Amino acid sequence: MSGGYRDFGDFLREHFTGKVQKISINAGFTCPNRDGTKGRGGCTYCNNVTFNPDYCNPVKSVAEQLEEGRRFFARKYPEMRYLAYFQAYTNTYGDIDHVCRLYDEALATPGVVGLVIGTRPDCMPDGLLGYLSSLRRKGTFVLVEYGVETWRNDTLRLINRCHTWEESADAITRTAAAGVLTGVHVIAGLPGEDGGDVAETARHLSQLPLDTVKLHQLQLIRGTRLAEQVERGELQVPRWTVDEYIDVCLGFISHLSPTIAIERFTSQSPDNMLISPRWGLKNYQFTALLHRAIVSRGVAQGDALQ
Ligand code: SF4
Repeated sequence: MSGGYRDFGDFLREHFTGKVQKISINAGFTCPNRDGTKGRGGCTYCNNVTFNPDYCNPVKSVAEQLEEGRRFFARKYPEMRYLAYFQAYTNTYGDIDHVCRLYDEALATPGVVGLVIGTRPDCMPDGLLGYLSSLRRKGTFVLVEYGVETWRNDTLRLINRCHTWEESADAITRTAAAGVLTGVHVIAGLPGEDGGDVAETARHLSQLPLDTVKLHQLQLIRGTRLAEQVERGELQVPRWTVDEYIDVCLGFISHLSPTIAIERFTSQSPDNMLISPRWGLKNYQFTALLHRAIVSRGVAQGDALQ
């Protein structure tokens, strides 16, 4: 661990020698919280186009998207190897044979050495988990990232996630038991939550067999249901300054087990879609400020856990 917390680089170095880069792909998955299986309209903050880089286009095959991503990075780093990052929507949702074929296509692409699969905690059937487990037994890097967002069920209801914390804990436990690397995604600043709630989510996550976590600030995106609710005054979300959000991150780090690697603290949506917060900082600039605060305040990961 360096700089007060275990970062994603530390985690990757335990699995690979040399540089490894994720390439985001959109494999044309949908989401059970949009098509009516779990809910309609999706999570209130969700506008899926905000997290797709330009080279992702579902009309292109998985292999084509990976090859385009690889060409982009290989100019600068010819030795780089890649993780296929199934990012858009719910990447375990669909006919199992079809889903497995997409993963196999990714792993057959030259330079690809593993999978990172973003999904919902209520979307990991045992059959698919068994397949991922078999890949792991053959030595393939497979990390499943569950959108947990918060441990508070009242908040999950408020944002229409249509799953519970208990389902998150169950998915994490089953995935880790299957020998598959397990990560989560958490949002800081959901309606009705403060920094204490974010720290409490970290404390709950620390009791689970997790490998990685991504934290990011709630971004209020134009056209989302949450943005409309906030505009109409029906809901309020924290309007943290950069310094206040640094405090939130420090609380999260202090309450997170030092065995869990932290991949990120911020996310950046396209400027023309973002209502708030508008900090005017790139992710790396925020991280530099956070690192300074970690040093000056002597924070270490897990130091608030008993
Ligand atoms: S955030 Fe994820 S789970 Fe929620 S609606 Fe969007 S794609 Fe579906």
